[in-house]
Parts: sequence; structure tokens; C-alpha cells
Amino acid sequence: MVERLREELGISDKVARAMMKVPRHVFVPSSYEREAYVDTPLPIGSGQTISAPHMVAIMCDLLDLHEGDKVLEVGAGSGYHAAVVAEIVGKKGKVIAIERIPELAERARRNLEYLGYDNVIIIVGDGTKGYPPEAPYDKIYVTAAAPDIPKPLIEQLKPGGKMVIPVGRYEQYLYVVEKDKEGRIRKKIWGPVRFVPLIGEYGFKEYEVI
Ligand code: SAM
Repeated sequence: MVERLREELGISDKVARAMMKVPRHVFVPSSYEREAYVDTPLPIGSGQTISAPHMVAIMCDLLDLHEGDKVLEVGAGSGYHAAVVAEIVGKKGKVIAIERIPELAERARRNLEYLGYDNVIIIVGDGTKGYPPEAPYDKIYVTAAAPDIPKPLIEQLKPGGKMVIPVGRYEQYLYVVEKDKEGRIRKKIWGPVRFVPLIGEYGFKEYEVI
């Protein structure tokens, strides 16, 4: 699967190597294990999905991850995407992954522990507010679509840092947000995408998306 992604998308060697190391079947319910290496999102319970591998690869490449980066993920889901990022940032780096649904967070924590990822911390909470105790972050990525870019996430991004976030409701676009050394923000649109909604104080309200 990763070889095909490399041919079709031209993903970097760094991201391809990381994805080859992470067994995606560990992160999906046993009834979907046979489809784990098909390039498609899959249900993970609580109405949520594990993102399609091509989207994980694209987001990792857009973030330009480096060994030693401290990374915030909003929307930990199964923990798969966090594991891929953890492979790239290595032991000198750290991934703080927030998930609003406690049952998913617990399963993600167990999966990551089982595979020995001790550079990932799973937090239960509203990731639209970021996670101030570990801020600022070299990189931030959001795996659910926001109505707009949450202000706390912009504040918690380091100068020189990068964020990747899907924005929109019926039509969604993946944004790449860069904060320069002087703290100025530049936004670029990568292209159209399809994600579950980001629900929280700086996201959609639960009643808006039912
Ligand atoms: N990255 C995940 C993986 O590798 O399995 C896939 C994530 S799924 C597409 C999006 C996740 O965002 C869902 O698990 C959902 O519960 C979570 N989510 C939505 N709003 C959130 C919020 N405000 N804070 C944290 N997580 C949120």
C-alpha cells in the first residue's frame, strides 16, 4: 500500500518509511482488519473514522516534520496518525494527541502502549483549545474539519511553526498555516478534503452537526 502511495502521490521517503513501520491493522476494529491496508477511511466506533492512509501521508508531508519536533494532534481517534508522526519525530520529539471521546482515547492509548510508543501522550479533552501545558508546538495538525482556524491553536504554534487543518462544513479545504519568526500568519489552501466535524468551544457546536 505504501509503495503505491509513493508512486501515486510522490510522498517523501521519510513519511513512507514511517508508514511502513506502523501496523495499521492494530488500530482498526478486528472486523475491519482485512481492509487495514486498503487506502480508505474505516469506522473506529463512536461514529468516528481512522483517516485514509493517503491523507495521513499528505498531512505529514505538508507539516515538514523533523526529528525532535514537538507536535500537537487534535483528533487522536485510533492513535494511528500519531504513531506515524511519532516514528518521524523520534525519541527526541514528542506527540501530544487530544481526543474528545474518552473511549477512543483509551483505545488509542492501549494501542500505542502495545506497540511501545512512549513518545506519544493521549489527552482527553477539547482540542479546539489546544493544550497549553505543553505549548508552544513546532507543528500542529487537526484531523477533523473546523468552521474556522481556532485562535488558541494559532497562539500555541511556535514562531517558524506550521499547522495543517481542514476548514469548512459542506465544502472543506485543507489549509496550511505558517507562523513566521515575527509571528505573522500566512495561510495557503492545499485542496478539497472530507473530514468529520471538529466539535468544541472553537469548533462546531454538537447541535450544529447532528
Ligand atoms: N487521527 C485519527 C486516527 O489516526 O485514527 C483519525 C481521527 S478522526 C478522522 C477525527 C477525530 O477527531 C475523531 O476521533 C473525533 O472524535 C475527534 N474530535 C472531534 N472534535 C474534537 C475536539 N474538539 N477535540 C479533540 N478531538 C476531537
